[in-house]
Amino acid sequence: MAKKKRDKNRVLIFDTTARDGKQSPGCNFGPDDTIRLAHQLARMKVDVMEAGFPVSSDDDFEAVRRVAHEVPGITCAALARANKDDIDCVMKAFGDAIKRSRIHIFIATSDVHMEKKLNKSPDEVIRMAVEAIKYAQACGIDNIEFSPEDASRTGFSFLAKIVAAAAWAGARTINIPDTVGYAVGTEYPNMILRLMHEVSIIERNDIVLSLHCHNDCGLATANTLAGLAAGARQAHCTINGIGERAGNTHLAEVVMALKTRRDYYKLDTGINTKEIGPTARLVSSIIGKPIHDTLPIVGANVHAHSTGIHQDGVLKERATYEIMSPEDTGWQEESLPLSSQSGRHGFKQRLAYIGYEVNAKTFGVVYAKFKELAAMKPLVHNTDLHMLMQETEAEQHAEEEGWIRLLNVDYHKLDGTRRVFVGLTANDNTFEASGTGNGPFDATWSAVRSALTRQKFWPGEIKLESFDVSKGQGGIESVGIARVKISLGDYAAFGRGSDTDIVVACTKAHIAALNNLINAPILRERIS
Ligand SMILES: [Zn+2]
Repeated sequence: MAKKKRDKNRVLIFDTTARDGKQSPGCNFGPDDTIRLAHQLARMKVDVMEAGFPVSSDDDFEAVRRVAHEVPGITCAALARANKDDIDCVMKAFGDAIKRSRIHIFIATSDVHMEKKLNKSPDEVIRMAVEAIKYAQACGIDNIEFSPEDASRTGFSFLAKIVAAAAWAGARTINIPDTVGYAVGTEYPNMILRLMHEVSIIERNDIVLSLHCHNDCGLATANTLAGLAAGARQAHCTINGIGERAGNTHLAEVVMALKTRRDYYKLDTGINTKEIGPTARLVSSIIGKPIHDTLPIVGANVHAHSTGIHQDGVLKERATYEIMSPEDTGWQEESLPLSSQSGRHGFKQRLAYIGYEVNAKTFGVVYAKFKELAAMKPLVHNTDLHMLMQETEAEQHAEEEGWIRLLNVDYHKLDGTRRVFVGLTANDNTFEASGTGNGPFDATWSAVRSALTRQKFWPGEIKLESFDVSKGQGGIESVGIARVKISLGDYAAFGRGSDTDIVVACTKAHIAALNNLINAPILRERIS
């Protein structure tokens, strides 16, 4: 079969939310979440999804295996270092889905990384990269992407040498990472231009050059767009720009800049931009962090106009102060919100639409919660449903495992001090206690701690590190989302809880964090 010629103006979007994105603290998510995200990315028509780094954890292995087998319409990529064990692990995860999957092999190429991290000479690094690519090919995969990690701090002549060697060895995509967000001005696009001019195999083998930027100086999107203008044809991005430190390139910014300024770039992506908003909200609910109000394209403020002159202009003609329409990016809630009038059938259909297959027992529980919520909050959005589902799944899991669960919570306030009463259960034991504090977080923390300490269920010096609360979507009766971070020694865990009552939300967040901490595999041994 003749190879289809690549459209020279088509930019491939490579989403790495489930790999690089989730490496940011507190953003971890499991295989079920990755599958949910994969279906949504496929709906949005992302070209490639990096689903994980299989050798790094069982969860990543499982996420890659499931995305490769269960999600049609998207190429599943998985990360490997340049060694046989990593590559074998990726191959095992791909299994018989190898033909529609991509392996992403990386090795560090900057002096500081080669010397300090790898302890290898430049020649050894090239040899390892070439051997790894050839080994992957011998395992039966031909869709191979190669990354010289920290490329932007790699001397150009060595970079050109390893790029050429990787291309000759069989890599079809070469990704040039700005791993630490170091590139400024024209450095990054110049690197792309020079590689295209000086490494002849790139043109000869129709190799796709790819971009991977970090936002340490706020330049990830700018560098990515400059790289595309210079001739690269794939961009690594994450949803809402999540990622280590200051994050990765925010997918929606690149896609909407190319679309809005097609006259300038003359480049296209395959993205269905109407799914940008729903995808942003899904990721926000998975990681339990709100979308920042001013985050470009998807933030709550990007189509809100508060000054009189702007309001007047926008009412007469949106184009006066806006360059894209909210309809085009799915900025508003995607489908009709549910209400207390919504029946079981409609509710079940909506759950399926946003990615939850539920059995009869779970459905009963979550439907009752939905009815309770709808009684307090006239419109129930998909974001609320994600929270209900995640909470229900976590509670059921805690019940099965004998972890801590909340039975009841009550409180009163006297002279500015709050007294909170909680009832908890774990391993068929029931604990009750009260605690006081000025704010909802310290009062509920003190109540939960004294309930568990009384029953010798408290594993040691757990510290409440940080907490915050934000408002869910939907007006005055909105749901409060409480988030906490706790730690035991050098290990930290996160928890989240939501409720229309903030004291209940805080209590739920503490319990979720405690369950995550106490039951983390690395701590379980130490504690028991
Ligand atoms: Zn990265």
